Amino acid sequence: MKNSHSSILLKLLFLQYLSVLCVSQSFDFFYFVQQWPGSYCDTKQSCCYPTTGKPAADFGIHGLWPNYQDGSYPSNCDPDSPFKQSEISDLRSSMQRNWPTLACPSGSGIQFWTHEWEKHGTCSESVLDQHGYFETALNLKNKANILQALTRAGIQPDGKSYSLSSIKDSIKVAIGYTPWIECNVDGSGNSQLYQVYLCVDTSGSGLIECPVFPRGKCGSSIEFPVF
Ligand code: 5GP
Ligand code: 5GP
Repeated sequence: MKNSHSSILLKLLFLQYLSVLCVSQSFDFFYFVQQWPGSYCDTKQSCCYPTTGKPAADFGIHGLWPNYQDGSYPSNCDPDSPFKQSEISDLRSSMQRNWPTLACPSGSGIQFWTHEWEKHGTCSESVLDQHGYFETALNLKNKANILQALTRAGIQPDGKSYSLSSIKDSIKVAIGYTPWIECNVDGSGNSQLYQVYLCVDTSGSGLIECPVFPRGKCGSSIEFPVF
């Protein structure tokens, strides 16, 4: 009798240990990355509008990427969890508006979202399932309106150049957190505003100051191309 009690206790302890293993997340924070379509099109020398039409002249989501404090990151964490359109059918029209694909040839977005889910989303499955992952990114875009932050400070997508510090400051003022700016280079060698990185806590619900910034540098004055 005593023996069977202790074996049940052992089993319970083991189950508890397994559940801790399962829910413990294996990353430290997310980068939430938004891309400026005008710069994507300039760098690639070309881009293709999605089959649903030219996207709005707004930043679009690139991805929500689990990351480690030391700057490294996990990727392609679960080959057994393929992207399933049926799980996000209610989000589809919002995804088309807020997470459009610009890669060629023109696509509906499914390939881009599949890539982002499989490479990055599967690494935060311990906290967000597929629906939760995409919904979280869409909610973050509402909280972090980069174009509004910039235009309020007089920084517009007009092909002119703006100081990197004014771009960062205007985002910090409007959104409350310091962004990291990724630049690219257009056909004539100008540094352009390409992607804006903000950091998010492991639950995906709140912005945080970035524990670490990616590497790379922009010029001190960068172009904000028309789209
Ligand atoms: P690139 O080499 O063009 O900077 O990045 C290529 C891809 O690698 C990105 O689109 C993204 O999927 C991944 N990547 C690059 N840098 C980071 C990073 O700092 N953190 C994470 N999580 N992914 C990154
Ligand atoms: P990452 O750089 O996130 O690892 O990979 C992005 C992948 O998604 C690339 O294979 C790229 O061709 C594809 N892709 C499709 N549409 C887009 C888009 O609008 N922007 C970016 N950056 N990549 C896209």
